[in-house]
Amino acid sequence: MKTATTTKKPSAKSTVAKATSPTAKGKVKPKRTAAEGLRDLFIDELKDIYWAEKALVKALPKMAKNVTTPHLATSIVNHLHETENHVTRLEEVFSLMGEKAVAKKCDAMDGLLKEGESILEDTEPGAVRDAGIILAAQKVEHYEIATYGTLVAFAGTLGEVRVAELLKETLDEEKNADAILTYSAYHNINFEAELADEE
Ligand code: ZN
Ligand code: FE
Ligand code: FE
Repeated sequence: MKTATTTKKPSAKSTVAKATSPTAKGKVKPKRTAAEGLRDLFIDELKDIYWAEKALVKALPKMAKNVTTPHLATSIVNHLHETENHVTRLEEVFSLMGEKAVAKKCDAMDGLLKEGESILEDTEPGAVRDAGIILAAQKVEHYEIATYGTLVAFAGTLGEVRVAELLKETLDEEKNADAILTYSAYHNINFEAELADEE
């Protein structure tokens, strides 16, 4: 590991030259199975989000169980039902693309759900934990919004009109879930303030 006390200073010029050179370190050599066209990349990404949605179906009930505010728990359970539908919709998309529905581990969703778990461990049940659950859930929704937004665009470019429509339905539900969480967050703050008044 380099430290600030390194005696030999690299020249600024050579550093710049290295960073912009086409043979610069950091360029990734593709695997032999690497996607060659947009269709391949699209299918790969479908597998990734398919894994993510299935992981969410398992994770959302635990989130809901740890919520204190009733309307927040209801929102999460409602979105669980939508999420189950997202899994089914993806299976329809795979079939329309003439592909088998295969899940490929999504490292991003895995990480987001692990973060969600640690938020539960790091908070006492109540308004603070609820705020933490909203935080974790919104990170998840934003990941999904980014993914489906791209997938809708890819499907459009590939001329897959029906597939694009189906993915857009999910995209809209993810955006709606995110908006409901934002609303809950503000409502929660008000609720807490009201309780503090009564004490
Ligand atoms: Zn979803
Ligand atoms: Fe992913
Ligand atoms: Fe979602």
